[in-house]
Amino acid sequence: MLFVKYGSDPRGMARDLLDRAGVSGRIPSGAAVSLKPNLVVARPADGGATTHPEAVAGVIEHLRDNGVREIRILEGSWVGDSTKRAFANCGYDQLAKRYGVSLHDLKDDDPVPVDTPFGPIRVCKLARDAEFLINLPVLKGHCQTRMTCAVKNLKGCIPDSEKRRFHREGLDRLVAGLAFAIRPALTLVDGICGDLDFEEGGNPVFAGRMALSDDMLAVDALGCRWLGIDPREVGYLRHAESQGAGALEVDASGIVELNRPDQSATPAPTGKAARIAGRIERRNACSACFANLVHALRRLDESGVSIPAPIRVGQGFRGKPLSGLGVGDCCSGAERFIAGCPPSALAVVESLSGNFT
Ligand code: SF4
Repeated sequence: MLFVKYGSDPRGMARDLLDRAGVSGRIPSGAAVSLKPNLVVARPADGGATTHPEAVAGVIEHLRDNGVREIRILEGSWVGDSTKRAFANCGYDQLAKRYGVSLHDLKDDDPVPVDTPFGPIRVCKLARDAEFLINLPVLKGHCQTRMTCAVKNLKGCIPDSEKRRFHREGLDRLVAGLAFAIRPALTLVDGICGDLDFEEGGNPVFAGRMALSDDMLAVDALGCRWLGIDPREVGYLRHAESQGAGALEVDASGIVELNRPDQSATPAPTGKAARIAGRIERRNACSACFANLVHALRRLDESGVSIPAPIRVGQGFRGKPLSGLGVGDCCSGAERFIAGCPPSALAVVESLSGNFT
């Protein structure tokens, strides 16, 4: 089962999702809970790279309300950046103080080998031995692997020497191995503001949504749809599925939406995302609908498909006859429109690939 919530309040959204999924009932009595955010670089969440500390705050509050006393935050930033600097710059030092939780830099931890279908992987002990691990990735594009979300976030649980080996010996197969080496009990995706292309951020797209599941492959498959990517085009997901880590299907009947997308204040995109957004005319567009369209246009650009303006999205176009392309049910009066509320980026890509007239 996948749970989805839309909005712009990561703390409240995280709490609601965990409540609705009945997470507290699954935590063994007296167990310590470990949280693994994405702090790949030492940049605040509004840059599109890192997990919003308020999403983590929502998880901590849920756990505290349900009697969990020991909570640890685990992370190892990418090679070349300091996890401790990331804890400080991304608001986690303050978070730890506010809630009395401990921060653990996995770069200081001892690695242990874990067997996987792709050979042994050295995993930091604190991550391997976590009694109840909650994975807290950011959904974003990635210049090498196309996307990063649940499975790839686990790369922060291996030592730097192992990260280097992954790049040397084949990123896709070894990242797929992480789906076997580390098994989080739960994944809560921060899909509030992920980057268009890069794991280090810089081109944030405000999408205003979060997803929760205990199935990493299902949640990654949903993330792919939101980014306009066929999940089987992501090498590490394909490999993980082939070895039985899960299925890359997204069955609509298995998705529980706690609310509908809304028009919560959408910060203006910057960088490359802003250039793409400049081609879109939006009127009272819900954040998720607009973000899906930005991601879809990026994927179409990559494939060399150019979509002529005007491209319209938003509730302000409801019931109006429109020339050109409209995206989402609100634009059903357009010459050509793509149905959905919101249509996923993948639906937009599939509808427009190579056949726009
Ligand atoms: S179709 Fe309209 S109501 Fe639905 S998500 Fe898009 S803008 Fe919002």
